Amino acid sequence: MPSIAVTPHEENGNVSDLTAQGIKHALQKTAPSQLKSASLSDSTTQVHSANHQHDAPTPLAELDASLLQTTYTTSPRPVPALGSPEMASQKVCTDHMIQARWTSSTGWDAPTLQPYGPLSLMPTASCLHYATECFEGMKLYRGYDGKLRLFRPQLNCARMLMSTSRIALPGFPPEELLKLIVRLCATDGAKWLPKDRPGSFLYIRPTMIASDPALGVQRPTEALLFVILTCFAPMDALDGGMRLLASKDDMVRAWPGGFGYAKVGANYGPSLVAQGEARALGYHQILWLFGEECFVTEAGASNFFVVWRTREGVMQIVTACLTERIVLDGVTRRSVLELARERFAIGYEGLEAVEVVERKFSMAEVVEAVEEGRLIEAFAAGTAWFVAPVGHIHFRGKDFKVPMGENGQSGRYTAVVKEWLRGIMWGTNGQESHEWGHIVDEK
Ligand SMILES: *Cc1c(COP(=O)(O)O)cnc(C)c1O
Repeated sequence: MPSIAVTPHEENGNVSDLTAQGIKHALQKTAPSQLKSASLSDSTTQVHSANHQHDAPTPLAELDASLLQTTYTTSPRPVPALGSPEMASQKVCTDHMIQARWTSSTGWDAPTLQPYGPLSLMPTASCLHYATECFEGMKLYRGYDGKLRLFRPQLNCARMLMSTSRIALPGFPPEELLKLIVRLCATDGAKWLPKDRPGSFLYIRPTMIASDPALGVQRPTEALLFVILTCFAPMDALDGGMRLLASKDDMVRAWPGGFGYAKVGANYGPSLVAQGEARALGYHQILWLFGEECFVTEAGASNFFVVWRTREGVMQIVTACLTERIVLDGVTRRSVLELARERFAIGYEGLEAVEVVERKFSMAEVVEAVEEGRLIEAFAAGTAWFVAPVGHIHFRGKDFKVPMGENGQSGRYTAVVKEWLRGIMWGTNGQESHEWGHIVDEK
């Protein structure tokens, strides 16, 4: 492993771990209520506020959903038909959006629920130059029982705070963001996810950008939080499974000491060249590898799982671990792991018991498993693609077929995991009141 961490200067503690310290300082100023609970940076970089007079918390307004000001649209738009090109275009948003402004001198303004429409930004806005932007991706589900649900939204809101902190954007209480998201979903859900479309969903995109009108390369002093709801077509039904193209040395998605663990725009823009080439060659996503050993990290913007039998004969579900912070801590990933640990520990409906493993694993191990007939299945898991079986991997000039079920259907483990999650998201299979399903009361 290349060691890129600089040895910290323990004596004064001031010039070490600048990112971790900076995150603490920013939270202290912008979301003091989060400091105690924040497990957002190393515990080794506790900030002793007494030592930082110049950083003494100023009484800035925190984000407060109870102050929401509402302006409803006077020109509501039609909802695209299921299966229409507009539905798949990812361009159509619902009638309303949430916005909240922040400045370093006053903190958070009262948030607004307002008609969906363009933002006004100066050309000097920090986000347009320095990638001071981060986002979340969630879905609002119309259940088969008629209810609207979010899936573990607290995790997205906590991750959003982690991402904003990583790029010097202001902190906020995650539960306030959740309340704003719920308000927007409650406002637009009934119309945009009608009850006669059970099984459908809207994509929720909470975003934060630095909006300071100043070109200086520095911590932003103004920011804008917004939340939009977009129409989106399902992407998990892939004929013959997802086709993955393993990344080459000329494109690394994330590296130790970087920011691959945060959902910041800077992780995505530079990957689109490779992604576009992969698409042009008939692949759905890049399988992101890391290092000379070709460690397998993620599949596009989804986490990646293999189901294999070890040489010792043990059935395992394996995904990359989070320890080096080059892999995104996906809500779907986490949920797959938790459910698999709970429900696959002993056999499940005729399926053999599975050991659930988070560890570094290399492409060489995957190739060996394929060649020795030990690879059982592989799948990608994330909010956008949901749980998508992988059917094919291209690596270093060679094509590897990943086993799937009959007639190009999902393999059994993948199908079972997907069915568990589907039950919780859409309220089926006796999962109508699972604690991960967060019911939204519609207006
Ligand atoms: C968003 C994302 C995922 C999936 O995370 P979920 O919380 O499951 O949607 C995985 N990898 C990357 C790089 C992502 O951006």
